[in-house]
Amino acid sequence: MWRRTIRLSSILASSRPSLIIQTETAYRLKISERFCSEVNGGSPARDKTPFITFVLGGPGSGKGTQCARLAEMFGFTHLSAGDLLREEISLNTENGSMILNTIKEGKIVPTEVTVKLIQEAINSSANDKFLIDGFPRTEENRLKYEQIVGGEPNMVLFFDCPKDEMVKRLLSRNQGRIDDNIETIGKRMEVFRAVTLPVINYYSNKGKLYKIMAVGTEDEVFERVKPIFTGLKFGGVMKLNI
Ligand code: UDP
Ligand code: MG
Repeated sequence: MWRRTIRLSSILASSRPSLIIQTETAYRLKISERFCSEVNGGSPARDKTPFITFVLGGPGSGKGTQCARLAEMFGFTHLSAGDLLREEISLNTENGSMILNTIKEGKIVPTEVTVKLIQEAINSSANDKFLIDGFPRTEENRLKYEQIVGGEPNMVLFFDCPKDEMVKRLLSRNQGRIDDNIETIGKRMEVFRAVTLPVINYYSNKGKLYKIMAVGTEDEVFERVKPIFTGLKFGGVMKLNI
């Protein structure tokens, strides 16, 4: 959960009168720092609850492409769960080979691994607006994120694309990905239908879902997404322009 902590400036202001209070202040600061790292996994606490948008859709539905454009136009930080996992593979971390095998199989990486990577990425950013791309993929992902990182997202985008179109895009994107082969693609499609669609339905029932028809050129799809964010007031109250 995001919590407010005592502002440094107010502590410093109260510390001026005497040396005794300054010592006390230093002590209070340490407590505060420790409190922050427990709550936020090692980074200084934020002053403001971040604005979180989850971006969902089947493999090849265009999540990554549209997120990059949204990030640039609206000042979001784009966090792709898949990219965070692939980084673990390339850095050869302790989970690297397990992640590699899971991705090859088109299965879902254990929730705690992905949630930790997302939490660290949020904490190490100074931004307060995030697009989380390709996560949560399961109900377990969703629940753990809520418990560990911080409640429900502000909004959820769903790029809705027919399966044939997604398969065509994945087979022609040539990014050298180990899971862009017909066998793994079949498994990813089935995982999406069986375990990710229920998450999408959950957010739809909560009134948080914005469904975008994802067929068309990148520009055409972007023109459909853009109005969702135009006129949006970040940091609490949402004013949607659609
Ligand atoms: N993945 C996962 N959990 C996540 C996100 C990704 O386990 O929260 C794994 C999963 O094996 C998935 C692969 O990473 O098939 C690629 O995900 P990515 O979002 O990069 O693929 P895309 O849907 O964009 O093609
Ligand atoms: Mg992607």
